[in-house]
This record gives sequence, C-alpha cells and structure tokens, in this order.
Amino acid sequence: MSATENARVVIIGSGPSGWTAALYTARANLEPIIYEGLQPGGQLMITTEVENFPGFPEGVQGPQLMQLFKEQATRFGTRVRSETVTGVDFSKRPFRVESEGGVVLADAVIISTGATARYLGLPGEKAFYNKGISACATCDGFFFRGKEVIVIGGGDSAVEEANFLTRFCSKVTMIHRRDELRASKIMAQRALDNEKIEIRWNTVVTGYHGDANGAIRAVDLENIETGATEELPTQGVFMGIGHKPNTEIFVGKLEMDEAGYLITKPDCSYTSVEGVFACGDVQDTVYRQAITAAGSGCMAAIDVERWLEAQGH
Ligand code: NAP
Repeated sequence: MSATENARVVIIGSGPSGWTAALYTARANLEPIIYEGLQPGGQLMITTEVENFPGFPEGVQGPQLMQLFKEQATRFGTRVRSETVTGVDFSKRPFRVESEGGVVLADAVIISTGATARYLGLPGEKAFYNKGISACATCDGFFFRGKEVIVIGGGDSAVEEANFLTRFCSKVTMIHRRDELRASKIMAQRALDNEKIEIRWNTVVTGYHGDANGAIRAVDLENIETGATEELPTQGVFMGIGHKPNTEIFVGKLEMDEAGYLITKPDCSYTSVEGVFACGDVQDTVYRQAITAAGSGCMAAIDVERWLEAQGH
C-alpha cells in the first residue's frame, strides 16, 4: 500500500520557478516537497548554452544551471521526489497530491509545471534540437549572427521572435500556413514593415535537411494553395507555433484561460483556489524567461509563507 504523509508545502514542477520556490520555502523552514515531474529541470534541460541568466558572465549550460538550482534548494532541506504528480484534490484542505509513490497532504501547493514549446513533430526533428532548431529566439538568437533563418508561425510569438532575430540575422523568413497573421495588429505591422523579414504565406514546412555535421542546412516547403514545393536553404529554424501549458491535471480544478494557462491574481501568485499558488511559465504568456520564472517562484514562496502564517500554521 502506498504511503500518506503531510507537508506544509508541496511544489509541483522543477524548472527555475519550482527550484526557486523550493529554495525560499526551505529557507523559511517550511520543509517543502518538490515533485520533479516528467522533465526534471524543465525547458532549460533541452537548451545548450544560456547566456542571459545574470551571474554567469561566461554563460552556462542549461542542464548545469538547473543542477545548481537543485543543489542550492536541497542544501536547505528541500525534499525531492523524482516522480510525476498524477492527480490533485484542491476541493478541501489539506490539499491532496497524488503520485505513484503515494499521497501527500499539503497545507499549501505551488504549481510550477511550466509550459512546453510546440514543435511541428516532423520525422527526424528532434535530432536538430540545438543544431539549428530552437523554440526560443531570446535564448538562441545570438548564435545565429549574420545567418539566414526561418520562423514558423504567425502569432505574437512568431512575429516577436522574427523581429528580435533581425537584430542578429541577415534575413528572417516567416513561414505561415495562412494568408493572414494571427498576431495583434501592431506587432504584425512591425514584422510587415521590417525589410529584413520576408513572409511566405500559405506555406508549411514539410521536412528538414542536415549538413555533414548534422546541423540544419535547408527545409522543405509546400505552398498549400498551389501545391508548389521547394527546398529553402536556412541555418536556423525557430518554432513560433505556441506553447502548451502543462495543466492537464488541473482542468476543472483551477481557473485557466482558453489556452490552458493558470490565471493568477494581479501582482501575486494566488490562483483561484486559496492556498494554491502558481509561478513560472504555467501562468506566464508574456515573458517566459528563466529569470522571470525564477523571480515568480520567489514571489510564490513569499506568498505561501505569509498565507500560511495568516492561517496560523
Ligand atoms: P498563438 O497565438 O497560438 O499562435 C500560434 C501560431 O502558430 C498561429 O499563427 C498558428 O497558425 C501557428 N501554428 C500553430 N500550430 C501550427 C502548426 N502545426 N503548423 C504551422 N503553424 C502552426 O501562439 P503565440 O504566438 O505563442 O501566442 C500565445 C499567447 O501569448 C497569445 O495570447 C499571444 O497574444 C500572447 N503573446 C503575447 C506577446 C506580447 O504581447 N508581447 C508575445 C507573445 C505571445 P494559425 O494562425 O493558422 O492558427
């Protein structure tokens, strides 16, 4: 039979926000339990060099950065569960958090399950991760200085990434499956006005080609109106087709927007259920950076500490 135990704080998800929430709650003597989840360390584990995390002037490898986050949080007594949470009950307190290993009854819960960038899912795609395919221009754009790249998608993320990439790249080609951008008018106009950006309308990417080193050298395109195909040389492919927040187990239990992001109250980490807090990309559709996630993890930890104190815990 699986065990039931008690915790003052359970943290679900172990990216920058989760580990920061763990660090702060551990240092507040709340002895948090953190569930590492399906992808321990979160999105930075599939990144190579991180050059924009303050404190690392020479840059740091994503997995190494997450290992440092973990070491710092565990140093103060964070209890780590290398498991995935399979179910929660937030209808009464203490909250129930279930995993394969058992059940934890928690006075407060911090959700930091993150979001996952969407990829096209074409055959062989994964082999090009960090070898030309990226889902974060802010993180990786710098590595494409002077190169020609493509951005897939037509929403705010895609036009923002395309505009950002023109600072480094000699040319940015947006590949959009329709004849109209989904992005907000003002952001779309910026892309349309940018002379370094070309937009291929009604076009989809159907395949990738690598060079002798396994890095991207070209993509196959298909115009879905005319059926015309071509091989377009490119050195970088940026996915701008959206993110999927990891919130399946919270459906019907916490307020979400139509895309599934958890809704937090303005300027804090409170969710729609008192005692349940959220931080990081699972509630952030705007910034999505490791440093902003870490900052919001700190906010959630402080919110929890104060809330527990107000409850008399
Ligand atoms: P999004 O609005 O869902 O746009 C995704 C884009 O990718 C759409 O153009 C979509 O095409 C395309 N797409 C989706 N799946 C595809 C596939 N399999 N193949 C080809 N194209 C595909 O996602 P987002 O741009 O990440 O934005 C998400 C939310 O964050 C939005 O509310 C957005 O306003 C917000 N956001 C705001 C800012 C900002 O204010 N600075 C920046 C970024 C994001 P269709 O158009 O045909 O559906």
